[in-house]
Amino acid sequence: MSFLELTDVHKHYGPVAALAGVDLSVASGSRTAIVGPSGCGKTTLLRLIAGFEAPDQGRIVLDGEVLANGGAAVPAYRRGIGVVAQDGALFPHLSIAANIGFGMRHHEDKRTERIVELAYIVGLDKAILKRRPHELSGGQQQRVALARAMAMKPRLMLLDEPFSALDTGLRASMRKAVAELLETAGITTILVTHDQAEALSFASQVAVMRDGKFSQVGTPRELYLKPKDRMVAEFLGDAIILPARIADGFASSPLGRIAVDSTERRDLVRIMLRPEQVLLKRTSREGMSGTPDMLFGEVTESEFAGSMCTIAVRLLNSPDPPDAAAIGNTPLVLRKPGMDTPVVGEIVRLTVSGKAH
Ligand code: ATP
Repeated sequence: MSFLELTDVHKHYGPVAALAGVDLSVASGSRTAIVGPSGCGKTTLLRLIAGFEAPDQGRIVLDGEVLANGGAAVPAYRRGIGVVAQDGALFPHLSIAANIGFGMRHHEDKRTERIVELAYIVGLDKAILKRRPHELSGGQQQRVALARAMAMKPRLMLLDEPFSALDTGLRASMRKAVAELLETAGITTILVTHDQAEALSFASQVAVMRDGKFSQVGTPRELYLKPKDRMVAEFLGDAIILPARIADGFASSPLGRIAVDSTERRDLVRIMLRPEQVLLKRTSREGMSGTPDMLFGEVTESEFAGSMCTIAVRLLNSPDPPDAAAIGNTPLVLRKPGMDTPVVGEIVRLTVSGKAH
């Protein structure tokens, strides 16, 4: 039995089906990330779990306790769930210290020390504890909201884009610090994020949502390497989609014969590779002669963007194409480390590593 179990959860706002049959199992102490396009129902789902709203239909069970069953059963304040909303939602008239201490019991042992410790953990200076929320930046307010939710010692933590107001460097270090803190405290967590890398690195389970339902739920690795469909593939990173024919555990594609897990024979399918699976080596037109088994392309675009660069390659040949027309029609867009990137017009040799999906 999982710690949190959602079964066939539905929620309508007038004619809009914000949630259209959500099933989800969350293990105790785990971290789940929910990703999906804007408006797909992520925040609505968190609001239902928190108890701010009731489902029209479906069950929400936390640690064996039925929180909702086609309507709210347990009110929000009795659920023991910590929530960090998108905007932080701090109490404007209270100091930062009082905001953080809000959920603690009044006579809790070492109350002040614990407030200072929590502020330190989320990277807030002790000096700002006397201030009011409006005297803080957006990123600082988000960190106060995190500390406040943590102070409650919740049995479940819901985080709705909690790092969105932070800049890239701070975002990564905060994410790591918060993940460690939650891990140490053994708090089961659900994170909603727009950031695919954040979802894949933060969570042990990732759920991709579309139109009020989960398209796929699995480990970060499963979803990244074996997405169920094109939407999941493209949502979690750059994807190279190629036409192919599959037989005997291999796909014939414009990039040659590539191993696949499927042993079924299938014509006219699409396979997917991640860009990092396509390796490039600089060569010249002369280097192409007398090597019919090798795969060559010409660089048609090369965009420098610091550590990673985007390169477009037009295939010049293909040792094993599904049909001749596919050669040259298959534009390949690859992201490569920025040092020593080939320039437009250069000839490159391509090799594929690993399996396609
Ligand atoms: P975002 O990533 O943009 O925050 P989301 O995935 O969190 O989006 P929700 O906020 O859950 O999406 O909204 C899901 C759908 O329900 C949207 O179509 C939204 O317009 C609608 N919706 C949400 N709340 C309400 C409400 N209180 N009244 C009417 N419609 C609502």
